[in-house]
Amino acid sequence: MNRVYNFSAGPSMLPLPVLEKAAAELVCYGDSGMSVMEMSHRSPDYEAIIQKAEADLRTLMQIPDNYKVLFLQGGASTQFAAVPLNLMKTGKADYVLSGQFSTKAYKEGQKYGDCAVAASSKDDNFSHVPKTDRSSFRPDADYVHICYNNTIYGTKFPEVPDTGDVPLVADMSSCILSVPVDVTKFGVIYAGAQKNMAPAGLTVVIVREDLLGWTNPATPSMLDWKLMADNGSMYNTPPCYAIYMAGLVYEWLLSIGGLEEIKRRNVKKAALLYDYLDSQSYYIAPVEKESRSMMNVTFVTGDAELDKQFAKEAAAAGLKNLKGHRSVGGMRASIYNAMPYEGVEKLVAFMKDFAAKNPKGEN
Ligand SMILES: *Cc1c(COP(=O)(O)O)cnc(C)c1O
Repeated sequence: MNRVYNFSAGPSMLPLPVLEKAAAELVCYGDSGMSVMEMSHRSPDYEAIIQKAEADLRTLMQIPDNYKVLFLQGGASTQFAAVPLNLMKTGKADYVLSGQFSTKAYKEGQKYGDCAVAASSKDDNFSHVPKTDRSSFRPDADYVHICYNNTIYGTKFPEVPDTGDVPLVADMSSCILSVPVDVTKFGVIYAGAQKNMAPAGLTVVIVREDLLGWTNPATPSMLDWKLMADNGSMYNTPPCYAIYMAGLVYEWLLSIGGLEEIKRRNVKKAALLYDYLDSQSYYIAPVEKESRSMMNVTFVTGDAELDKQFAKEAAAAGLKNLKGHRSVGGMRASIYNAMPYEGVEKLVAFMKDFAAKNPKGEN
């Protein structure tokens, strides 16, 4: 059985060397005599695994010492509630709406306090990220929430919004570890693991220490960042195996040269696809150039039937999961860290071939 090029938005491809290492260690980890799946999370072997994972993530992202790293469960969606529950001191927060996930986060936040929409691109079908400056935000807000890369629409903030002294909270589920980011510009970064980090089941939260300790007293213990931080993410059983897999991904990233190298590769992959899209008129890339995502690339033929045929024939050719999100239609190629350059080359070759074989208006 050959592995395919899997363009799924998530869960998505993992680096082959990571899968191979996990396979080799699946039944017996080191000299422990057992699988990582079978280990007590309090055992010395597992302690070493989670500590190394955290240390490697800190190295990769250059996370300063005054930030805590939490390995949690519940997906990024659980953090939509955890963010207001942990950060609302005065009960005011501002949200930038740039797609479905940021809108969900905003709606969840509204359950807990006074949440305002600082900016939105909804009226333009989220085909770009909204422009903001300091005056977009209430200076007395407890935080500003953004979704840094919009997985469904294929947009990304071209730069980190300036929120002045208001802590910036970013959902980075679909772009974490794709390029270096300056962690100090953020109060909180969180990400579900299943896009660019590990299998589903793990959510990483990176939080500045001075933002801990304001938890709403009614917060469920499992959503209390301070409690989780004080217990080294081991207040209860953590998602042990997913953390181990994340650790292997961090090791792989470090082995190839860290985030500068993965950025170089990601820039090259995305450029190949966008340059092709810009060079022709058969496919339309709906996202404004300034807001283009390097991780999720959306395009349409303009004919829903052709789009369907495209996704079907591509899948038959070993290019899987190119169908766009059900709310958007068209196609979406998710080209996360683990997608090799050859996968994008194959996709572009397929696109050219498909366009030649299926002239518009004649199918
Ligand atoms: C996938 C995704 C989510 C939802 O993540 P879950 O882990 O399924 O809760 C939230 N935000 C972004 C940006 C995503 O890509």
